[in-house]
Amino acid sequence: MDIKKKDIRALTKVQLRDFFVEEGDKAFRGNQVYEWLWSKGAHTFEDMTNLSIATRDMLESNFVINHIKVDQMQKSSDGTIKNAVRLHDGLIVESVLIPVKNRTTACVSSQVGCSLDCRFCATSRLKRMRNLNPDEIYDQVVAIDKESRLYHNRPLSNIVFMGMGEPLMNYNNVLKAIDKITSPEGLAMSPKRIVVSTSGVPKMIKKMADDEVKFKLAVSLHSAIDEIRTSIMPFNATFPLADLREALVYWYEKTKNRITYEYVVWDGINDTKNDVEALIKFCQFAPSKVNLIEYNPIDDGEFQQAKSKAIDMYVSMLEANNITVTVRRSRGKDIDAACGQLANKA
Ligand code: SF4
Repeated sequence: MDIKKKDIRALTKVQLRDFFVEEGDKAFRGNQVYEWLWSKGAHTFEDMTNLSIATRDMLESNFVINHIKVDQMQKSSDGTIKNAVRLHDGLIVESVLIPVKNRTTACVSSQVGCSLDCRFCATSRLKRMRNLNPDEIYDQVVAIDKESRLYHNRPLSNIVFMGMGEPLMNYNNVLKAIDKITSPEGLAMSPKRIVVSTSGVPKMIKKMADDEVKFKLAVSLHSAIDEIRTSIMPFNATFPLADLREALVYWYEKTKNRITYEYVVWDGINDTKNDVEALIKFCQFAPSKVNLIEYNPIDDGEFQQAKSKAIDMYVSMLEANNITVTVRRSRGKDIDAACGQLANKA
């Protein structure tokens, strides 16, 4: 009978220690294997040279080590790198390395496809196929860290969960991956350098606050007017702005962490004074800042970047109301690696 072997990296250190005790071995053997898997990045049991051959064979017959494989790497003229990452079951997600001055940021995926339906986003057309496991999220970061060292001579400095998928729809696995990324046995990164970007799932934002997470929160807002937001992000009909606002106030009260609003201004959609006034009001509910992101059209459709006059109006009105605003230039456009463009096209 063909017994499906378990992915050994799904086990915690305690579970690994218990496994060895059940096998009549010493618990510390679990620590050794854990170190091979996470600190040393072993891809096979054969690599675990301080274990006896019998132990390696026993592991081989019980487990597999699932690893991602960077199938294709594309480099942009601006230094941005996009990885097409093959998962153990053949599905593909994308992750991006963005170098800026003295920082390199990894933009990682949390789901294969996405269950949400933001109309301006290429990923939404893929539909959600499955959630990524914690190790699949972690491996994307490790792969980008290696590329950062190789091509930019510095380790990865920041991570944003802004790739494919809605991270709060895969909350437990994202949390486990972040635990690993921030633990001394993983990459020992500070959680303050990690941003989880959500389209705004109120219940989950409250849960994050209750869980006292230490990473930062960004919300893809794009409009502070329900009617407009629902027309571009249809799930807003289920999670309207009033619920989002309440969850964000709760988040700030619990964490004292300022919120970042990601915001694209589109021509003829949200480029009027009325739109800015609604955004200013929304920003006043909890301490926040606004990132105005340059848009990359995914086709010739209705979503086109607003004229610079509209962007200037946003900046001056927000600043006049003491709201910090940054205009973010798009990176990696030539390789379809920019915001909203990830769709396994390569
Ligand atoms: S913008 Fe984010 S949440 Fe919306 S469809 Fe795209 S990947 Fe999903």
